[in-house]
Amino acid sequence: MEIIHRKNEVRTIIKEAKTRGKIIGFVPTMGYLHHGHISLIRKAIADGCFTIVSIFVNPLQFGPDEDFQRYPRDLVRDLSMLKKEFVDVVFVPSTDEMYTKSHLTEVRVPVISEKLEGKFRPGHFTGVCTVVAKLFNLTSPDKAYFGWKDAQQLIIIKKMVVDLDLHIEIVSVPTVRDSDGLAASSRNKYLSEQERKKALVLSRALQKIKEMVELENITDSEVLIATGKKIINSEDVELQYLEAVELENLEPVSVIKNNTGILGAIKVGKVRLIDNIIWE
Ligand code: AMP
Repeated sequence: MEIIHRKNEVRTIIKEAKTRGKIIGFVPTMGYLHHGHISLIRKAIADGCFTIVSIFVNPLQFGPDEDFQRYPRDLVRDLSMLKKEFVDVVFVPSTDEMYTKSHLTEVRVPVISEKLEGKFRPGHFTGVCTVVAKLFNLTSPDKAYFGWKDAQQLIIIKKMVVDLDLHIEIVSVPTVRDSDGLAASSRNKYLSEQERKKALVLSRALQKIKEMVELENITDSEVLIATGKKIINSEDVELQYLEAVELENLEPVSVIKNNTGILGAIKVGKVRLIDNIIWE
């Protein structure tokens, strides 16, 4: 496993792998890896890719009052996890390596970036798209792997790839959960034991909705969302949104059917958590 920090090293290694006929699989992450990240990496490796993982906590996608400084980081632990997975390359750039002091350009996917998460995290997806576009240009992947855990991010990246004619297949991977149902997330580290118990209300509400749809054939969004909100509001957490939407454009839907999803966010103490269920 090669660990590299420089953009020109990425280009050289990828060029060399391509001349050997390798399919490049790219997994962008912000590190502090968990089994959600690992499932993306295993998918890339199972697909036979020359697999490159990036670890970069991207300052551009954090608002001024968000957790950029205290975002969990543990490179030694991350690298030992990646080594066990037989990853080919890990790219760990510094902020100065990624962005020159005079960096100006942004990649913005309007409309769908302003919904849901976008209302609570203005500018977040522009930061995400800008760094992902740069990382795509550096790694020239054939396939890039993203988790459904961040459903809106996945949908926006897919749109960016289509709109900019990027020749990259976006592979989506199901949300990985801990045994108690909580969606795995680096930010779960912030939760105290008490908060973690409270946080479970989001996955519990989504699970109840899933059962209503799949076992009882209840597909009326209003009924489903009302039930979900009631469950969430029964716990001492702040519900930020719970919405039924079309997956492609994130427009509200009145009936759950294929290619729709229910996306939600809560705040438990100071910690924001997102989760969803989707019907692909
Ligand atoms: P992050 O490091 O949080 O930026 O996540 C990097 C990638 O891992 C993104 O594509 C996420 O959607 C994905 N990911 C994070 N958590 C999970 C999870 N619990 N299940 C599946 N994918 C995940």
